[in-house]
Amino acid sequence: MKNLDWSNLSFGYLPTDYNVRCFYRNGKWGEVEVSSDEYLKIHMAATCLHYGQEAFEGLKAYRCPDGKVRLFCVEENAARLQRTCRGIVMPEVPTELFVEMAKRVVRLNQEYVPTYESGATLYLRPLLIGTSAQVGVHPSKEYMFLIFVTPVGPYFKGGFSTNPYVIMRDYDRAAPLGTGTFKVGGNYAASLKANKIAHEKGYASEFYLDSKEKKYVDECGAANFFGIKDNTYITPLSSSILPSITNKSLMQIAEDLGMKVERRPIPEEELATFEEAGACGTAAVISPISHLDDLETGKTYHFGENPGPWSTKLYETLRGIQYGTIEDRHGWTTVVID
Ligand SMILES: *Cc1c(COP(=O)(O)O)cnc(C)c1O
Repeated sequence: MKNLDWSNLSFGYLPTDYNVRCFYRNGKWGEVEVSSDEYLKIHMAATCLHYGQEAFEGLKAYRCPDGKVRLFCVEENAARLQRTCRGIVMPEVPTELFVEMAKRVVRLNQEYVPTYESGATLYLRPLLIGTSAQVGVHPSKEYMFLIFVTPVGPYFKGGFSTNPYVIMRDYDRAAPLGTGTFKVGGNYAASLKANKIAHEKGYASEFYLDSKEKKYVDECGAANFFGIKDNTYITPLSSSILPSITNKSLMQIAEDLGMKVERRPIPEEELATFEEAGACGTAAVISPISHLDDLETGKTYHFGENPGPWSTKLYETLRGIQYGTIEDRHGWTTVVID
């Protein structure tokens, strides 16, 4: 293993040895190529640069206490990328190709999978871009699919803890029938300003209500939202949120732990009734919310300064499955290195 200080990593970029690439030309995917070049040579008129024909994914490889390296829900990431491809008119990356490339890039860079003790992981970033030169607004004919990896630090350096969020009414990340349910860079460009303002005001992230009526809860920045009350896990149903694989897994775990699960529109007022609330996604699993401020109405919704009992249990269970210490009853993990 590389002699790096795994415990001081942030969620940044650290070079590794290899990335894997596959090109779509003449209507089909070619052979997988291994590259040690961190740069891409693409045409200046490529559709990804001008018209946002770009999609990405994010998942992690975990070095487990039993010595194995596991990927979590890799087929789900492949399926979500396929949905995104259909959404912005790109050829779908077949599941077998996606999984093969994910395994290969982890094995090629196995020296960079951080130790279990450090709490750090190897983050995989699959990226699909339209590469044909085009000045008119049309889908590209050629595409590049690549996966690179980079070690990332533990999300909770000082232990599992809560953060404040702020409702932003002056910005939308996605339109009701727009690209909010697809993992595309454009949604992130649209969120950068609100995110910057939230950070400047001392919040962990911005929080979005639905962009049509500003009445219902949508997302917590780049993470899904859930609230908990009366032993029930409640998460929004909306036409503009990204279907988080972490959230999907937490819904299943909540059910396994005997909670009720509801996926439905959540009116803003209902926030006042939650005993616990959190943001969820691959980066943190769960980032519990201490309070949520609505600067326009002056209201504050409090969910507790410390992580609540259900959030803690959900967090520990999902992490246990990811690290192979809790039985994987749903077949979510893939052993990449034995
Ligand atoms: C990726 C992403 C999430 C989290 O999805 P996971 O699959 O759980 O990592 C949530 N919201 C947005 C906007 C995202 O892009």
